[in-house]
Amino acid sequence: KDEVNIISGALEMRKKTVSDVMTKMEDVFMLPITSVLDFETMSEIVKSGYSRIPVYEGHRGNIVTVLFIKDLAFVDPDDNTPLRTLCQYYQNPCNFVFEDVTLDVMFKQFKEGHKGHMAFVHRINNEGEGDPFYETIGLVTLEDVIEEMIQAEIVDE
Ligand code: ADP
Repeated sequence: KDEVNIISGALEMRKKTVSDVMTKMEDVFMLPITSVLDFETMSEIVKSGYSRIPVYEGHRGNIVTVLFIKDLAFVDPDDNTPLRTLCQYYQNPCNFVFEDVTLDVMFKQFKEGHKGHMAFVHRINNEGEGDPFYETIGLVTLEDVIEEMIQAEIVDE
């Protein structure tokens, strides 16, 4: 039964896209770059349980970098370090993919590893009067892709 699930899941990877499995933008835990890494903010980050936190500037659609939890190892909450300072130090890049990228292609990219195991899903929005613009609609991680492949939920630690 498990084998059948994995095989059918693997075959579906060519049909399903990142937008089918992503975590939607409104459900993403992120921080504005203007945050201060005081005790309150750091507690919130730890409470969220995520290992990577997108950082935005201005509005939530404008992701500028990612904060890794391990970047906080040398941060003392009493120093009230601006998040911007830490982001400028680590400069973790963010990887973007289009919403119609299929899961087999996404898996291959994650496997290669050089762009990390998380990607932001975006699309070109050309509705409305103004110029078309990139719109970020969610994030996808290796875990989301593997869950689809094995047709089962991975329960987090
Ligand atoms: P983590 O290492 O933080 O547990 P995973 O890569 O294991 O992250 O992903 C677990 C699930 O959480 C996936 O569905 C992924 O889309 C989602 N996820 C990852 N980071 C965030 C975040 N900052 N906010 C909301 N959801 C997230």
